[in-house]
Amino acid sequence: MKMLLNGEWQDRERKIEVVDPFDNTVIDTIPAGDEKDVEIALDSATRGFEITRRMTVYERAQILFKTAKIIEERLEEFATTIAREGSKTITEARKEASRCVNTITCSAEEAKRILGETIPWDSFPGGEKRKGYYYRFPIGVILAITPFNDPLNLVAHKLGPAIAAGNSVILKPATVTPLSAIKLVEAMLEAGLPAPAIQLITGQGARIGDPLVSDGRVRMISFTGGVEAGKHIVARAGIKKIGMELGSDSPVIVWKDADMKLAVESCVSGAFWAAGQNCIGVQRLLVHKDIYDEFKNKFIERTGSYKIGDKMKEDTDMGPMITEAEARRVEQWVKEAEEKGASILIGGGRDGALYQPTVLENVSRDASVHCEEVFGPTVNLYPVDDLEEAIKEANSLPYGLLAAVFTRDIEVAFKAAYELDCGGVMINDSTDYRLDSMPFGGVKYSGLGREGLKFSLQEMTEPKVICFNLPGV
Ligand code: NAP
Repeated sequence: MKMLLNGEWQDRERKIEVVDPFDNTVIDTIPAGDEKDVEIALDSATRGFEITRRMTVYERAQILFKTAKIIEERLEEFATTIAREGSKTITEARKEASRCVNTITCSAEEAKRILGETIPWDSFPGGEKRKGYYYRFPIGVILAITPFNDPLNLVAHKLGPAIAAGNSVILKPATVTPLSAIKLVEAMLEAGLPAPAIQLITGQGARIGDPLVSDGRVRMISFTGGVEAGKHIVARAGIKKIGMELGSDSPVIVWKDADMKLAVESCVSGAFWAAGQNCIGVQRLLVHKDIYDEFKNKFIERTGSYKIGDKMKEDTDMGPMITEAEARRVEQWVKEAEEKGASILIGGGRDGALYQPTVLENVSRDASVHCEEVFGPTVNLYPVDDLEEAIKEANSLPYGLLAAVFTRDIEVAFKAAYELDCGGVMINDSTDYRLDSMPFGGVKYSGLGREGLKFSLQEMTEPKVICFNLPGV
């Protein structure tokens, strides 16, 4: 496939292979963009903004509604692309494609709710003759950088609101999973988006990242990815708006009165969805000591029933990790945890990029699987004596995206909800629950700002005051 620069789909001699991680087949190639392509993208996006800033809300919303319809009509094609280029099973990929339809539709709806307010100028002496208001205006060129794990819907979370707000966009998708993003951009053009409104540049972030993020023509960076790349980008961005959706090591408290069946089912799914490559995937299970053994046994039993393997088979529960190198990293982290005293309750094996769903206990607090984001199919169990201890443990790491509590006790739920340091607390769901329109983001190293369509639109617009001095009125 090609990249979209200056209104044209362009190829380059230097190419990057896109590989299915299950069987290593090359499914396509993309051009390896370089510094010259960055310059074309920046230049064209700047001109594109002169078009998008003048488009009406109606025009922007119609394009997005039509895009959503196109994706809905070709849902299976989108799902197959997600599943082939990434880690997701076809069942998981269908869910992502449906969510993308919702994300783009909500962006169109929110375009119609970009509102301002009148300003009470006479609230301070000297302002009596003024009349006016503020309204929200687009920012300009938005640089959207996206990760591999939701290769369609996380791109939609940036393109949808950016276009709804009247910005132009430069999209740099993850190099391992660019195809779903390219298909989304194709759908947008088919729906009537003027080509200069969007640039899609493919190529290694390590090469084209710095010239993109540091350029003054980019007025906002909307980044979703890992903390290391996030820190690197912030250090080079200069003065511009920055949205950061980063990683986590999501804690879930399972209280002694929890609905056991619900907690086990939700937490197993939350730990191993997309082979654990999920920013809100369950990583740390803090289980009340009175139910620890029962929960542990049921959790192991359910994990043992997982079918892993071919992503395209309807009954596969979990596919491979994104690359064999990533699976090797997780294998190495689990070995390190074992050397530091952890027991593997189930799993721990690897075959190429397939890493077995793995459950650990007695994990040392200095093991990588405890203190780093694993981003793989492993989960740790910890017995806890009381709620204070559980909350303290949950808050002890430098992340805070979502947290969760399973309990029937309203006071336990409220105490945890108020005291857990994070961007959201799920009660009786695992951390792996997100509605695309809710405010989504984290505290500490999990991020800056919020996504979720209404909230992204706030981030991707700026208020401008318009004040009339009317001495005769
Ligand atoms: P990543 O390695 O940080 O890459 C993310 C994106 O950043 C890719 O497009 C990558 O390009 C690009 N990039 C890398 N270095 C860059 C640089 N120096 N300048 C500019 N761009 C650069 O993350 P990933 O492995 O794809 O995704 C996993 C991470 O994303 C996890 O930490 C996960 O928690 C996080 N995530 C967060 C959320 C959220 O909403 N909070 C959602 C999903 C994922 P290349 O592909 O070319 O390297």
